[in-house]
Amino acid sequence: MLFKAKVLLIGIILTLVITLLLSLLYVRELENGGSVQLKEQVPILKSNKLGIVIPFRERFDELLEFIPHIHSFLENQNVLHEIFVINQVDQYRFNRGSLINAGFKEIISSYNTIDYIAMHDVDLLPLNPALDYHYPPSGHVNHISAPHLHPRYHYASFVGGILLITKEDFMQMNGLSNNYWGWGLEDDEFYLRLKEAKIGIHRPGNLTTGTLNTFRHNHDRAIRKRDMTKCYNQREVTRKRDRHTGLHNVNYVLKKKHELLIDGVSSIVLNINLKCNKTLTPWCLCSEYSVKNTKNLKKE
Ligand code: UDP
Ligand code: MN
Repeated sequence: MLFKAKVLLIGIILTLVITLLLSLLYVRELENGGSVQLKEQVPILKSNKLGIVIPFRERFDELLEFIPHIHSFLENQNVLHEIFVINQVDQYRFNRGSLINAGFKEIISSYNTIDYIAMHDVDLLPLNPALDYHYPPSGHVNHISAPHLHPRYHYASFVGGILLITKEDFMQMNGLSNNYWGWGLEDDEFYLRLKEAKIGIHRPGNLTTGTLNTFRHNHDRAIRKRDMTKCYNQREVTRKRDRHTGLHNVNYVLKKKHELLIDGVSSIVLNINLKCNKTLTPWCLCSEYSVKNTKNLKKE
């Protein structure tokens, strides 16, 4: 009984001492003019996330080099990112514009953490760490592979290669034209869209490197031939601004999604089956044109 009373007494005394100490601490804190805080409060800033969108077909060797390279390049800049390989799996000629449109649509619907995208050639590796892949300045796209830096294209209105654009601006411009099957000109048409939308083109300045050492263009033209054939009325149609096609009417089926891991870096591969309206753009297959023409010649 006596033992129980002693334990109770010690308990009461301990509680009193602890309460006293705590209140003394609190009073001192108030005397210092401060409030009682457990942790210093740091405002949490949300960083914008970049989606690297790679229009792609049969360039696996280049992809093996590109993915680890771009990942460490962006990590060094603290740019949050995700890599999307938009893999064309239909039988038509390559269509860079439609692949980027399709990739963008998929990103919007399934990966809504992305705030801006880079349309990125798989064979263009940034070498100069001063090339800034952060969110583009307001009202502008950021043309990373600018004419004064790109290894091959130096005309003033060039916007191909690598271009950063916000989600909102890409939607406002209705993406890229879907009419460009085969190599080239879809980027020049996109330049006209930028001008019309009054979106500025920011380009890297004050770099110590030039056309020879800012990028590595991993492209052997003997192995990777550019598909420059023009058939039907392709030449006439693709020289003009296209007001009918774009992001809103890109026609495709997403066949499959894969997660691809290269040297520990993960990327998402979207297998895209593009549809071609052969009345509007018969040049999505030039082989049919030459077969037809040969037949006609034979008949004649
Ligand atoms: N591309 C591809 N497969 C092709 C054609 C093009 O993957 O059959 C992609 C690839 O990302 C490439 C980009 O489209 O970097 C631009 O094509 P290309 O390199 O032929 O154009 P360049 O800028 O060298 O004239
Ligand atoms: Mn190339």
